[in-house]
Amino acid sequence: QCAAVCPTGAIVVKNDTASIWKELGDPQAKVVVQIAPAVRVAIDEALGQKNGKNVMGKIVAVLRRMGFNEIFDTSTGADLTVLEETNEFLKRLEKNERLPLFTSCCPAWIKYAENKHPDLLQNISTCRSPMEMFGAVLKEHYKHSNKRVVVVAIMPCTAKKAEAARDEFKVEGTPYVDYVLTTQELIQMVRESGLVFDEMEPEAVDMPFGAPSGAGVIFGVTGGVTEAVIRRVADDKSINMLRTLAFKGVRGMEGVKETSIPFGEQTLHIAVVSGLANAEVLIQQIKSGEKHYDLIEVMACPGGCIGGAGQPFADREQKAKRGQGLYETDRMSSIKRAEENPVILSLYQGLLKGKVHELLHVEYKGKGQKS
Ligand code: SF4
Repeated sequence: QCAAVCPTGAIVVKNDTASIWKELGDPQAKVVVQIAPAVRVAIDEALGQKNGKNVMGKIVAVLRRMGFNEIFDTSTGADLTVLEETNEFLKRLEKNERLPLFTSCCPAWIKYAENKHPDLLQNISTCRSPMEMFGAVLKEHYKHSNKRVVVVAIMPCTAKKAEAARDEFKVEGTPYVDYVLTTQELIQMVRESGLVFDEMEPEAVDMPFGAPSGAGVIFGVTGGVTEAVIRRVADDKSINMLRTLAFKGVRGMEGVKETSIPFGEQTLHIAVVSGLANAEVLIQQIKSGEKHYDLIEVMACPGGCIGGAGQPFADREQKAKRGQGLYETDRMSSIKRAEENPVILSLYQGLLKGKVHELLHVEYKGKGQKS
């Protein structure tokens, strides 16, 4: 049984592998799976490969052979998050209200804010995490299926299990994401399957949600959310600007990073924090008036999701390699910005029409604090 713990050390985490095997064996179930960005650069370590290489194609191949019916990339959900969070940020900037805007992708950070800083909840983005956005889109997409649709999310994260179980992410008691498997649990299932991961020929994810942008993929590393948002907000969207951005205080494994970008007549001040102890220091500096920011990315795990508690253990050097693996994927991606992803554009014109708030946003009122 899994003995993983959440990033705050508060709970022992349930192992869901037996439930997933049962679902995969049920002919009445359609099992749909989404894979988070950080998983693809860490799973290979269980086989002794420590190069941080992106092995998404092999993960897709092994999941298909294990019996998953449809396989998608959570980075598509991250593309939605980029668009929604940027719109929200621009609206708040225009009205100069509820700033700084804190990101909302990390459930351990949300819980921390609910417990320690409920006064900051109004500053946290109303955007659901990429996992929850995509979970809601998938349930909506398959709502007329003649089978029972089961959405599984493979995450680097133990806190995502608690996020999926929150009341805010259920409709009449049914969650948008039915099960969260950590990278470690997936490794366990691959071993149980008898399949040889290393021998898998890479395969592509399924349509209609394939091909996320590079911006969606870098969500898995500290600074990735911020970089994706800046790519959308920045006036100059040239490749050179994107390259410059990469070296302007957003990338790297430091626990606190700061950057500023020109935006019309203004300069936007941005902080990127990973590790809750670092977040606490920054919050105190903001509350005392010592620091001022417009946008703050907070990830509970040092280095971001690549260093999540559901991943194989990694030291700082190994986390940096995983981060490089994601940046390399972004570099090779022909779509760099979320708003240029045709899948996302068609979602807004179709499935999401009139349902953006219902499916992509959430208001945290501190109800999760006792869970
Ligand atoms: Fe989960 Fe850690 Fe990523 Fe937060 S930073 S979403 S706790 S893996």
